[in-house]
Amino acid sequence: MKEFQIVVLAKQVPDTKNVGKDAMNADGTINRAALPAIFNPDDMKALEMALECRDIIKKENKVDVKVTVITMGPPRASEIIRESMFRGADGGIVISDKRFAGSDTLATSYALAMAIKKLGHYDLVFTGRQAIDGDTAQVGPQTAEKLEVPQITYADEIIAATTDSIRLKRVLQNGVEIVESKLPVLVTVHGNAQNCRSRHAHLVISRKNDEIPMWTADDINPDFERLGMKGSPTKVKNIENVVLAKKESISIKSDDEGIRGLVEDLTAAHIF
Ligand SMILES: Cc1cc2nc3c(=O)[nH]c(=O)nc-3n(C[C@H](O)[C@H](O)[C@H](O)COP(=O)(O)OP(=O)(O)OC[C@H]3O[C@@H](n4cnc5c(N)ncnc54)[C@H](O)[C@@H]3O)c2cc1C
Repeated sequence: MKEFQIVVLAKQVPDTKNVGKDAMNADGTINRAALPAIFNPDDMKALEMALECRDIIKKENKVDVKVTVITMGPPRASEIIRESMFRGADGGIVISDKRFAGSDTLATSYALAMAIKKLGHYDLVFTGRQAIDGDTAQVGPQTAEKLEVPQITYADEIIAATTDSIRLKRVLQNGVEIVESKLPVLVTVHGNAQNCRSRHAHLVISRKNDEIPMWTADDINPDFERLGMKGSPTKVKNIENVVLAKKESISIKSDDEGIRGLVEDLTAAHIF
């Protein structure tokens, strides 16, 4: 029987919670070298959902299930592939090439979709809902469009999974929704989903020296016009460094009245 293939898309991101004084360049762009690089938090949750899905399908259907993590980034992004393997992923691939530089979300999702197609066969793709640096939440849905598969966004919990279909709980602004789809499908995972399982000591020992494959642009058979700067219609017109002055902050009392007043002010200013 064919192997059941689950793909996780994960991104290594600058730790935006630990922004020091060197974090910004003089021109207002991010000085990535001065920020610690971490596993994008939503993607860690996507990894957990993929591992959980593997456990369910293996148990119920007695098939061989593989979880493969793909990241596009500099060679050091292999750190998150290794972290995924320590937590139970079967393997992963870094796609890295200077020709990807300057990619907006359209070019990024194109490269990721081509890498997934290159695997030859896949049943499920999990992504985080959003990356904490770019913050667009566009890459998951755009990748589904390019793969021409349905998508379930904002997934929070697996209700059931078989080799043919998956049923998930989605979290929406005003409630939850239970959705079922035939496979293959792409799922974007919400930050409220289950935290990822810890590293396994035996995996840390047995997998610490595993070689992690690195694919270049040539390996994914792309249309080179759709990669990097050439494939990115987004143009950044201006970058501003916004520093809030003290006079723009207000103090509110931490009681019901204070909170009510704040909500009223934010509603009046159309922020809510
Ligand atoms: C004009 C322009 C030029 C840019 N140039 C560069 C550049 O030179 N270098 C650079 O690093 N960034 C560059 N960026 C930023 C880059 O486009 C985004 O970081 C990237 O497309 C992902 O978008 P996002 O961070 O909003 O992810 P989101 O859409 O918020 O991410 C959603 C999910 O998609 C998946 N995902 C997103 N990105 C990746 C990835 N790389 N690998 C695997 N999975 C992923 C993750 O699961 C993530 O949780 C540029 C952006 C623009 C607009």
